Amino acid sequence: MSQHVHVRISDGIAVSEDGELVERSRCRCGATWIRTYPADEGEPGRQ
Ligand SMILES: [Zn+2]
Repeated sequence: MSQHVHVRISDGIAVSEDGELVERSRCRCGATWIRTYPADEGEPGRQ
């Protein structure tokens, strides 16, 4: 048996009413993910 490895394809980024970044990803098998980023941490890597 071979296991399916999800491939997360970015499906776009939107901004919620609260100002948070909402990133949607999906795999061709139908799985989806939603990841949110706090509004005050929109740019990771910045000190
Ligand atoms: Zn998959």
